[in-house]
Amino acid sequence: MPLLEEIWQSRILTNGGVMLQRFEAALSRYLNVEHITIVSNASLGLVLALREFGITGEVITSPFSFVATSHAIRWAGAEPVFADIDPLTLNLDPASVEARITPKTQAIMAVHCYGAPCDTEGLAEIARKHGLRLIYDAAHAFGVRKAGKPLVAEGDLSILSFHATKVFHSFEGGAIISPTREMKLRLDRLANFGIEDEVTVSSTGLNTKMSELHAAMGLAMLPKVDEIIEARDQVAGRYWSGLSQVQGLRCLCPPGQKGHNSYAFPILVGPEYPMPRDALYHRLREHNIYARRYFYPLISDMPMYQMLPSAAPAGLPIARRSAERILCLPLYPDLDRVAQDKIIRVVADPCH
Ligand SMILES: *Cc1c(COP(=O)(O)O)cnc(C)c1O
Repeated sequence: MPLLEEIWQSRILTNGGVMLQRFEAALSRYLNVEHITIVSNASLGLVLALREFGITGEVITSPFSFVATSHAIRWAGAEPVFADIDPLTLNLDPASVEARITPKTQAIMAVHCYGAPCDTEGLAEIARKHGLRLIYDAAHAFGVRKAGKPLVAEGDLSILSFHATKVFHSFEGGAIISPTREMKLRLDRLANFGIEDEVTVSSTGLNTKMSELHAAMGLAMLPKVDEIIEARDQVAGRYWSGLSQVQGLRCLCPPGQKGHNSYAFPILVGPEYPMPRDALYHRLREHNIYARRYFYPLISDMPMYQMLPSAAPAGLPIARRSAERILCLPLYPDLDRVAQDKIIRVVADPCH
């Protein structure tokens, strides 16, 4: 790979070398946002975002997410408070968020689940009214646009993940999207021990830098991402035609929508389906089909969070029901038709 040759020749292996600078510029063009801090992963990006605003109080967040969302809140020294989700989008329900606000609340950390946009207007209105920071875990939302605008420009900060399992990746990696150059530069420093120059350390930073090797991977992948999203959309389209009319199933992400990224094909297995979700999950495994229960269990049911008052099941009915019914079908750009037809057959007629 010629980019690797370049790294050896430059003799700069990390610390914001030429690969990182090029990756940052290319991402900025692709995403159509100006101020990007590239980091080693999204989890640490979320921690830095909370640190940037000095948030150590309560952060209202979704229990229906990958565990990193709440873990990041704890690692920043703050405390997660769980609110319920919307039954249609499975993203935070602004009304439930507002009901959880106390004098200790400092921020909302919302998740664009499967890349489907949150109610950004509703959340922004609540944040404004109560003087809260609004941070988006946009790990699933690479390249997503809402009303033609980049979704990652919403809120005070948004964090993308470039982990190998995401739509776009650099093996490991992530990025924080800032509204201003000043904030981007502060986050750049936080990502590099808080170092300002050779003799000045201006904040209690961390090491969350991305190496030149990872940046080169990102640079090499970026030109392919449109093709990857297009191929994912084709796969999602075939699932949709095969499954959207099946009794008892609800397919969540309609394909072919402008600005969406077809990150996943989630279905909700309802009571009218011939068997419960877990039975379908195991039936698929018998056919060597590895569907994933994203997200189950709820973060609020995990041992380190379940004792929180906001984790009480009675306060999270939609999240609970969704976690029991959700299943994400295999979706990758080169999923071949024969394999996919078999998946569709089993899901459409699981008792056969
Ligand atoms: C993948 C993921 C993360 C963590 O991303 P990393 O880059 O692996 O740290 C955080 N939140 C959500 C919703 C994710 O899916």
